[in-house]
Amino acid sequence: MDYKFATKAIHAGQQPDPSTGAIMTPIYQTSTYKQSAPGVHLGYEYSRGSNPTRRALEDCLAALEGGKYGLAFASGMAAIDTVLRLLKPGDEVVAGEDLYGGSYRLFTKVYENYGIRFVFVNLADLTQVETAITEKTRMLWVETPTNPTLKIADIAALSALVEEHNIIHVVDNTFASPYLQNPLELGADIVMHSATKYLNGHSDVVMGALILNTPELYKQLRFYYNTCGATPGPQDAFLCLRGLKTLHLRMKAHCENGTLVANYLKTHPKIEKVYWPGFLDHPGHEIAKKQMRGFGGMVSIVLKNADLKETFRIASRFKVFAVADSLGGVESLVNHPATMSHGSMSIAEREKVGVLENMLRLSVGIEDPADLINDLETALAESAV
Ligand SMILES: *Cc1c(COP(=O)(O)O)cnc(C)c1O
Repeated sequence: MDYKFATKAIHAGQQPDPSTGAIMTPIYQTSTYKQSAPGVHLGYEYSRGSNPTRRALEDCLAALEGGKYGLAFASGMAAIDTVLRLLKPGDEVVAGEDLYGGSYRLFTKVYENYGIRFVFVNLADLTQVETAITEKTRMLWVETPTNPTLKIADIAALSALVEEHNIIHVVDNTFASPYLQNPLELGADIVMHSATKYLNGHSDVVMGALILNTPELYKQLRFYYNTCGATPGPQDAFLCLRGLKTLHLRMKAHCENGTLVANYLKTHPKIEKVYWPGFLDHPGHEIAKKQMRGFGGMVSIVLKNADLKETFRIASRFKVFAVADSLGGVESLVNHPATMSHGSMSIAEREKVGVLENMLRLSVGIEDPADLINDLETALAESAV
């Protein structure tokens, strides 16, 4: 049955436990399952390959992204690593130039050693993407909105571009979440998530996911999932499943607070630039409006006349926003991309994509927006309080 988003977030993949009527999917804390004779079982053999709590989560995630298949991983990086295993030496990947720092590190420090070539381009510029594609290109790796400069790539246009080539189109949908954007419906082949962020939403789990529609790709990815074994335990799967039940409410509040914070910062005298795709003058605004159902709670700022010391001083004065890695939780966080999320990039690479030393990235949480604005006002005030 085709239920709406909120109903799917609460029910998809789940039914009351047939043996007890328990409304919540139990935490199947078991590594193995009894077989009535060798090979005769109820669909579960060993928990690296499958577990009922994890299965409920995977089915729910698939439903939310509009996909047939879901796979949960022990981290977002494990999900990305599994996708990259589809490649062979000599293959090329075209990827966005301002990727999540951890993805960039996995590509350049691990997979390049195995003879895979990565070409980094500005995905907002389709000509650059087209020029980067060769007969060896096997994968297009897209992040939109990007981290931390919140650039927007046109997923449908990129799909059309790679369609005639034999290229797997992957979208890291972590920043938007399925509430705001469904890349499979826009032509992508695989959606990847760091479920650590908005999907779980409570900063208490590290987990990743892949969602897709093609049986052939699913078969391959599921093989690596079980063979390489970076699958999550049932306790974490349970927590993420519980987090998903409020995804729609949380995302609505993140978008509302994001709008208020971005607009407040836009006119602040201490701020040189605010990156947020909801602004009419954001270069990707029209595309964001077309492919997203809201503009999200991620806001990046460049401080006016601030060196590294002054940037750190401001960051350390927040009381509600906590200086921390990660994003997408109910609590507001502030990150210094140049030394935190993007610390593994060289200065030249960082500056090329606009990750400046006087930039801060805000993950706007769902606290009362008046408290968030007050916190920003105090932290940005000229004199120490
Ligand atoms: C956090 C993050 C990842 C990595 O996920 P982990 O769960 O930390 O392993 C990948 N992509 C994006 C956009 C992220 O924010």
